[in-house]
Amino acid sequence: MTPFIAKLVWWAGIVGWYVIRYPHQRRSRKTPIVSRRERARESVLLAISFTGLFIVPVIYVTTGEPRFADYPFHPVPAWFGTLMFAFSLLLFYRTHRDLGRFWSVTLEIRETHRLVTTGVYRHVRHPMYAAFFLWAIAQALLLPNWIAGLAGLVGFGTLFGFRVGREERMMEATFGDAYRAYAARTWRVVPGVF
Ligand code: SAH
Repeated sequence: MTPFIAKLVWWAGIVGWYVIRYPHQRRSRKTPIVSRRERARESVLLAISFTGLFIVPVIYVTTGEPRFADYPFHPVPAWFGTLMFAFSLLLFYRTHRDLGRFWSVTLEIRETHRLVTTGVYRHVRHPMYAAFFLWAIAQALLLPNWIAGLAGLVGFGTLFGFRVGREERMMEATFGDAYRAYAARTWRVVPGVF
């Protein structure tokens, strides 16, 4: 593993993520939305997350900037980062498969929306956010630069922190006792921890 290969792994992760998401994005456009929460606020949060997970690292892997924040590369963390990216994509694939047409990039309830409690949703309520956290950790392990590496955790962490409570309140308002019972028997992101 070299710094160059670590950057290629990061690119491969981005491409893999896009390939997994694209068909769902197309299909979800065809499923009408019946309610939508705080669109402007959600757009700002998405932009922050996108900056941290994509814009800042893409500048780093293409230009090497910001150089002052570089630290020495070690192959071992980069290998762990590669494993984590692979695991993140696998989880990401499964969350899209389980959530199907009820997926949204922001907080939305779709026509004929059902509460999904099976597959990866059986264990945690936010497996897709777990996949994004794994991606952000992989980014930190692959890119030996304090700013480009940690930007994903900061960016996605901000989105998560400001969104997750609202998402759960929206789900509770829509599905009532069924969601409360589901929330009582599951974890948020990491089974047994949080
Ligand atoms: N927080 C989830 C889903 C992210 S996509 C995860 O991390 O896996 C966000 C959209 O998914 C929300 O707008 C909501 O409508 C929908 N959603 C979230 N949890 C759901 C569930 N258990 N069943 C059905 N839809 C869900």
